[in-house]
Amino acid sequence: MEEKREEEKEQWYNCSACGKKTHITTMNVIEGKGKTLILCDGCYKGVRSPLEKETKNPNMMGAVLIGIVAAIVGALIWFGFVVATGILWGLISVVIGYLVGKSVVWGSGNKRGVKLQLLSFSLTCLSLFFGEYLIFSWYIHDIYGVFWIPVNAFILLYKEYLSTSPRAFLDFLFFGIALWIAITVPRARKI
Ligand SMILES: [Zn+2]
Repeated sequence: MEEKREEEKEQWYNCSACGKKTHITTMNVIEGKGKTLILCDGCYKGVRSPLEKETKNPNMMGAVLIGIVAAIVGALIWFGFVVATGILWGLISVVIGYLVGKSVVWGSGNKRGVKLQLLSFSLTCLSLFFGEYLIFSWYIHDIYGVFWIPVNAFILLYKEYLSTSPRAFLDFLFFGIALWIAITVPRARKI
């Protein structure tokens, strides 16, 4: 008898948010950064539903449009930096991932989720490509006599650059970081 009461007592926990007594069978256990939270159903839904709403009905048209603008602006910032300083500094390309990621979230009506992550990733790839194209064009346009060098000429030159410059590895490291940021910013949030 005594043992049974003890057992029953152990099955009730206080909600970490509102303090309400919550039974072990209905409570929600959330493992977070180094600590465990126990939430009653009411508090759990209160925290979860805004986060779930974040992934529903994103304005994809808005995300694409604002994302494209960010991709162009990002490439121009990178290009501008290289032209202004004369330093081929791939680190700036990391900014593109952040800018595109934030813009996609903003354009979609502050939504998140896989679709927006894919969009952010794709636009960041295009922006990095466009930025490199602008930078290469800037350095060699004298030879061609036109600013917009042919894309196939750019690709050839870029291959050459990759196989001859030890810096190319660093560029790819920064591109990787940029793309990682691009897919992380619009990621669905969880509690
Ligand atoms: Zn509660």
